[in-house]
Amino acid sequence: MTEPAFQNPEFLWRNPEPKSAYDVVIVGGGLHGLSTAYYLAKNHDVKSIAVLERGWLGNGNAVRNTTIIRSNYLRDESMPLYELSLKLWESLSAELEYDVLFDQRGLLQLAHTKTEVNDARRTVYANRLSGIDAEWLEPAEVQEFCPIVNVSRSIRYPVLGALLQRRGGIARHDLVMFALARAASAKGVDLLQGCEVTGFDIRKNRVVGVETSRGKIAAGRVGLAGAGRTPLLARMAGIDLPIQSTPLQALVSDGLEPVLNAVVMSGLLHVYVSQARNGGLVMGAARDNYVSYAQRGSFQILEWQIQAALELYPVLGRAHLLRTWAGIVDVSPDASPIIGRTPVESLFVNCGWGTGGFKATPVSGFIYAHTLAHGEPHELNRAFSLSRFETGALIDEHGAAAVAH
Ligand SMILES: Cc1cc2nc3c(=O)[nH]c(=O)nc-3n(C[C@H](O)[C@H](O)[C@H](O)COP(=O)(O)OP(=O)(O)OC[C@H]3O[C@@H](n4cnc5c(N)ncnc54)[C@H](O)[C@@H]3O)c2cc1C
Repeated sequence: MTEPAFQNPEFLWRNPEPKSAYDVVIVGGGLHGLSTAYYLAKNHDVKSIAVLERGWLGNGNAVRNTTIIRSNYLRDESMPLYELSLKLWESLSAELEYDVLFDQRGLLQLAHTKTEVNDARRTVYANRLSGIDAEWLEPAEVQEFCPIVNVSRSIRYPVLGALLQRRGGIARHDLVMFALARAASAKGVDLLQGCEVTGFDIRKNRVVGVETSRGKIAAGRVGLAGAGRTPLLARMAGIDLPIQSTPLQALVSDGLEPVLNAVVMSGLLHVYVSQARNGGLVMGAARDNYVSYAQRGSFQILEWQIQAALELYPVLGRAHLLRTWAGIVDVSPDASPIIGRTPVESLFVNCGWGTGGFKATPVSGFIYAHTLAHGEPHELNRAFSLSRFETGALIDEHGAAAVAH
């Protein structure tokens, strides 16, 4: 454990040696694993909990994402889930006693075709019926809300309006990671870095422990939270998950003066952008469309998103590209997460958040902790079971989740 990334100031979290057994072992030290451990320790009578991380905490999607937070999903099952998450975000800094710089600057989802206009309006009505803030803006109102958007009728895909969620925004992902790790560790959770799960000890179809690069660890219950690598983990337990893991890229420009006061997304043009506090423009695009576990993607996706960004925001023509990177996202067939039991007793899964799991960080941990503590789903994740791919009770969020994080 000599790599700098494994070290951390002791005031953030402890670095204990692995114990031989825990009541609950969580596999994956990203935001969802850490959030689950925090809520397990806080809300449930579980005495010993460990989070096992193959690399260092937050080496995966946790700090590779573009930090968009919103709750304007479409389906009856999804809306309460994402809305509870947004409510938890609203008090997360206070809850964790650590400022995660949650900034509700407002989030615009642009519509460029008649179909997108109809879809966005339907979402506005559905959201409002569920108590979620949502507004429809005409092009002139879009420009008033966010002056750098090009609302000219003469561009290739003119802006016909936008869905606005004023409570949407961004937070600082690295701070969320620090805050959750610190809070979980303070509640007694062992955070074990450099501890890769390489197999499961399964007896009579019940998991009783994990094999790791730091030895065997017995476990009462095991919760997978490996995001893009979850299919690899599940396969070690003999389970084939309906998940495709693909690269998703992002980029950031050099620091500019404040030019963008909101998060603006375009699903059709495959680009979304927000301006970080240091002035960098953070942008993302569509997924690379091949399965991969390497955290890098292909060049043409970056080229397409920059083309789209320049057409929509001509002012960005003077920005310089500073950095690009990729994470591996776990996409399910209906673009909704899978949270609950697996065919193996005492082995649970939380995956399939795909391109949109950052916003779900608090609620994902909250409901998964309940599921792990009780062995049964929370009412909010009952419908998000693995069995829906057998029953056909899918929760289709492709419109809300495919590109629009
Ligand atoms: C470029 C990009 C942009 C995104 N933008 C947004 C956005 O704007 N808004 C939004 O809501 N979501 C966004 N997402 C999605 C979001 O980042 C993810 O859905 C979410 O972070 C996944 O949860 P996590 O943080 O726990 O994942 P991760 O951080 O990937 O955690 C999984 C962890 O499991 C560990 N692991 C895997 N296998 C093993 C093993 N065998 N043993 C031990 N540990 C293991 C990994 O090392 C990793 O640290 C984006 C993702 C990317 C890549």
